[in-house]
Amino acid sequence: MATPENTLAFDGGWEYAPAPESTDHVEIDKRYGLFIGGDFVKPEKGRYFDTINPATEERLARIAEADAADVDRAVKAARKAFGPWSRMKAAERGKYVYRIARIIQERAREFAAIESLDGGKPIRESRDVDVPLAAAHFFYYAGWSDKLEYAFPGRKVKPLGVAGQVIPWNFPLLMAAWKLAPALACGNTVVLKPAETTPLTALKLAEVIADAGLPDGVVNIVTGAGETGAAVVEHPRVDKIAFTGSTAVGRVIQKALAGTRKKYTLELGGKAANVIFADAAIDQAVEGIVNGIFFNQGHVCCAGSRLFVQEAVADEVVEKLKDRMETLIVGDPLDKNTDIGAINSAAQLEKIESYLEIGRSEGGEMFQSSCTVPDTGYWCRPTIFTGVSQSNRVVQEEIFGPVLAIQTFRSYSEAIAKANNTPYGLSGGVWTDKGAKIFKMTQNVRAGVVWANTFNKFDPTSPFGGYKESGVGREGGLHGLDAYLSLEA
Ligand code: ADP
Repeated sequence: MATPENTLAFDGGWEYAPAPESTDHVEIDKRYGLFIGGDFVKPEKGRYFDTINPATEERLARIAEADAADVDRAVKAARKAFGPWSRMKAAERGKYVYRIARIIQERAREFAAIESLDGGKPIRESRDVDVPLAAAHFFYYAGWSDKLEYAFPGRKVKPLGVAGQVIPWNFPLLMAAWKLAPALACGNTVVLKPAETTPLTALKLAEVIADAGLPDGVVNIVTGAGETGAAVVEHPRVDKIAFTGSTAVGRVIQKALAGTRKKYTLELGGKAANVIFADAAIDQAVEGIVNGIFFNQGHVCCAGSRLFVQEAVADEVVEKLKDRMETLIVGDPLDKNTDIGAINSAAQLEKIESYLEIGRSEGGEMFQSSCTVPDTGYWCRPTIFTGVSQSNRVVQEEIFGPVLAIQTFRSYSEAIAKANNTPYGLSGGVWTDKGAKIFKMTQNVRAGVVWANTFNKFDPTSPFGGYKESGVGREGGLHGLDAYLSLEA
């Protein structure tokens, strides 16, 4: 059953250009306005903030900060565009969405380089995962545009109106694609707010949207931090909110939406269990552990951040994992040999480091690879904790960094009990040679996605989302359409 996994990068199954050796082909403006009504416009208060390169701490660009009045302008533009866009022949609407996908593919090298510059992720990941998957989402949902009646037979399908979308910094372009593609395909218009530390690929996407000829106001992009996001969420003329981010902010948003007519989806935190049974192909499982927790510096809501190893193979797995960690290259995100890039921001590094301290003070035994890291920028060497227990904070809380908490188990039922002992329920992984065990695990692990003999695989056709404190609703696949439609009998 085992699938070989020998690299941190995934095969998204899409074609892309080779890794950029330089950033000569990348154009980043010194200053970006807000993308409202088809144009880049100045923010009303004239305020801008910096977006920096977390690997060098250098400023990449100045970014407009939208306040409530700017958000209002964006919502008005989206409302104005909604009528014609929703009434347009569905096949025509689909063509626009296809065009976005095509242009992303054509500009894949530039998107990949900007994603790595602004967010710190290794170029191999931006190039092989983020950018091709973003294009794939637009392709996939473009195809649904004129088939919505077939997706929901016997139901009358109607777009919701204006969708307000707030996205995080870990997969900036991909999250924009997850949000925009189904919304547009279903005939909604959008106000999207990227995260404040990684706005550049969304702003590049605004250029693509203009190049694709989408009618003005169908997509509006407002930049800023939490206050800007809150203004989108609270705007009375927004019909749907789609949020991906921390559980803490998700709670604030859900409270703000309570008692309103707004439909919403929340994709929040996670603390996934990656469970290795003694009958697993151990070398492949070790690759899966590495992929599960060190991909994208562990800035992944579905990261396999809790490892449970069956006692009989625990020593072997941990030894092999330590050896493998020593081979991982931490450093320049633009170098195509890099496995682990920069931590996204100073604040995130501080949070991760505070958890390293917490883990040690709780009595955990910490191991970090002995690699060197650059002098400037934000870095965290791959880290594991052994000797931890279920009640420890490093086991219970989402760290969102390259930090793995390892525990052992004896029986199947112990593995399930431990895996489910978490407030989260986004994802999980199981490594075993026995198909029956896989089916049992997928039924018993309370998580939206359970990977078997693999980890962190994504596809636009499959739904994604969580149980418990990991969120509400699903994105991707048919479920992703449902979230942007009103379905009437
Ligand atoms: P993280 O903790 O990983 O930075 P957040 O949940 O804080 O993630 O951020 C995810 C997105 O939510 C970002 O775009 C951020 O600006 C936005 N955001 C933060 N606070 C709020 C809020 N109160 N209302 C709406 N959006 C918010």
